[in-house]
Amino acid sequence: MNYKSLLKKEGISPTKQRLEIASILLDKPQHLSADQVLILLRRQGSKVSKATIYNTLKLFKLSGLVRELNIDSARTIYDSAAYTHHHFYNIDTFEVIDIPKDEINFDAFPSLPYGTKKDDIEILIKIRQK
Ligand SMILES: [Zn+2]
Repeated sequence: MNYKSLLKKEGISPTKQRLEIASILLDKPQHLSADQVLILLRRQGSKVSKATIYNTLKLFKLSGLVRELNIDSARTIYDSAAYTHHHFYNIDTFEVIDIPKDEINFDAFPSLPYGTKKDDIEILIKIRQK
């Protein structure tokens, strides 16, 4: 994939660091924390700082290139599959597994609070080892 034109299309200036981060995270559908992105970048000899990684991930999120999953206050995962879908989260192994959007149906859905409209629905099903 040409990350340079992808970032430009989103109005993001394609700096060397941002391109390095894009090539790690957007390479395939995957779920990575900022720390995991850092580890993968270090492995390939990159010197991108942690602050740059955090800022870039926020930027990618705002532009819709990645989704942010806030699993708990200590764990934010970036999902390179930016389309609507749901997740299993294994609280024992920390594994995040995709659930296709169509595999969850609602029989009942609450009325939205006055003056609001639905933006997105994202279900996180927490699981654990037997
Ligand atoms: Zn996902």
